[in-house]
Amino acid sequence: MIGVPKICTQDNWRFTDHSRIYYFSWFLLFKIVKHESSLLETLAAIILRMIQFLLIMILGWMNGIFINYLSDVLPSHRKITVPTCPSCNRRIPIRSYLFWPRRCPSCGQARSIRVWVVELSAIVITLWLWYNPSPTLDFIFGYLLVTYLGTVFVIDIEHHLILHPVSIVGAVLCLGIGIGLRGFPKTLLGGLGGLGIMMVLYLFGILFSRSMMRWKKRDIEPEGMGFGDVILSGVLGLLLGWPGITFGLTLGIIAAGLFTALYLLIAMATRRYRSFGTIPYGPFLIIGAILPLFFRDELIAILGT
Ligand SMILES: [Zn+2]
Repeated sequence: MIGVPKICTQDNWRFTDHSRIYYFSWFLLFKIVKHESSLLETLAAIILRMIQFLLIMILGWMNGIFINYLSDVLPSHRKITVPTCPSCNRRIPIRSYLFWPRRCPSCGQARSIRVWVVELSAIVITLWLWYNPSPTLDFIFGYLLVTYLGTVFVIDIEHHLILHPVSIVGAVLCLGIGIGLRGFPKTLLGGLGGLGIMMVLYLFGILFSRSMMRWKKRDIEPEGMGFGDVILSGVLGLLLGWPGITFGLTLGIIAAGLFTALYLLIAMATRRYRSFGTIPYGPFLIIGAILPLFFRDELIAILGT
């Protein structure tokens, strides 16, 4: 069969006997260059993806830094100001505060473990927001929501406090998101609904503790929610709209109930039960709002409705 023109099936090139080596060399060279260039392209794509990952990580870290900063200064100073040491009240230089050694130069007090937990959580959540884009909510709004809800979450756990200026900023953000998602009427109705439902529960709680006081004839610290929780529910109502907020609040209250039951069980099992004290409601309300907003499909799958 030597001398009969052959067809190279791969690229449809004709090979004759005398030029076979010549063409084949070109073919090989072409293959190598083609292969190498695709390799370069893959490498470039990987590097670009790594840079993107790093940038999103930094964006998340910045969010964590900001949440920590707000949680440090707002409860004690009630305004945006220079961070001070919680133990000696002296100013902490920005470099030491933000990066290293993260201690007060005067008394040596280190920043709390919360700083690390919040920064790590913010990085993970921001990466998750970027790589699992919500079909309804843009990344930037999810990112801003993390700042607002994260700040409320941390301050409520540490101080049992939901600050009104934070709620006002949150209300503006959630009003904007709500209008974008479902228009003004349903958003406003959600806000009023959240405010109204929690207001009733709040007044009921006050009545309950007053009657307990009369019954036991001693002062009882009011348990459960405060007025900040009522405001927060209104803000979350703007975010979830009507009737979404009823579902969000129900989830939040169930989560708080489950947590309280678990807490009581552990306290009884370890015999460390003294007084029940108050649990901050804010974090549970936030969890109740986030679940239907970001995990709607998963919730539907679990609840089957
Ligand atoms: Zn100090």
